[in-house]
Amino acid sequence: MKTYKAIFFDWDGTAVMSRKAPAEEAVAAMKPLLEKGVKLAVISGTTYENIAGGAIERYFTEKELENLYLGLGRGAYNYAFKGGKPYVFSHCIPDKEVLEKIHRICFEIHMELKNRYGFNTDIVFSRPNYCKIDLMVENNRGDNLFMQENELELLKESLKAHGIDGGLQALIDLSHKKAADFGIKVAPTCDAKYLEVGISSKSDNADTIFTHLQEELPGLMPQDCSFWGDEYVGIEEGIFGSDSFMCTKITKDGDFFDVSDVPGERPHKVQVLGGSVQTFLDFLGKQAGEA
Ligand SMILES: [Mg+2]
Repeated sequence: MKTYKAIFFDWDGTAVMSRKAPAEEAVAAMKPLLEKGVKLAVISGTTYENIAGGAIERYFTEKELENLYLGLGRGAYNYAFKGGKPYVFSHCIPDKEVLEKIHRICFEIHMELKNRYGFNTDIVFSRPNYCKIDLMVENNRGDNLFMQENELELLKESLKAHGIDGGLQALIDLSHKKAADFGIKVAPTCDAKYLEVGISSKSDNADTIFTHLQEELPGLMPQDCSFWGDEYVGIEEGIFGSDSFMCTKITKDGDFFDVSDVPGERPHKVQVLGGSVQTFLDFLGKQAGEA
């Protein structure tokens, strides 16, 4: 297999089965690559506290950490390590005024869905630069935060049953429309359970970290990088999952791999490997052997 100078990957559902699952296998697979100077970038919607027990640095030496990056909070924070400690080298955190607008936009989306369609949602407000609107309030993922096999169908049926004919695109359009009312632009995304509305996405993490890596590895090309996730699959035509946001104008010539077996359309660049977390960990193992 081709060897990569940099590997970008999602965390929940790609490197670990769930947030509460032990991170030992993942960090054991990452360690030899970091030691050899391969750049690893965790690109996750979650925050630092939810990656490997909130202190991923404790698994690695100072030298290894110099090759580790985390792009978290759906574009909000980009971390590197210095002297064995994490620091934010770039962020996309709105000021108080813009954050308040994001909250109000999401409340407006919630009210419109409720009043017009009788469609219930819950909103998580505590994220640093976006809100998470739960579209499947009856369907609890429990500890498994990644997309379940039948969720797409359940959501589509639920939208239709409530008279929301435009499907997920209608929710994306509604988000843009409500944001325009407040005079800001948003980057709404959705998987089969959550509509997330904020000012950045995994695209910002991927671009920022890739550009940062180019400074450290002059001549680094997207072709030297691979991008791994478990949520590339399309919710419906033209709307792909959160990991597809790693594929941007800047990174698009990289190699993109999906470890999910969920049937459906992916962006055409994405190679579907399936096999879940084990496929990704095996890949890291092979890269370490060849690097
Ligand atoms: Mg995932």
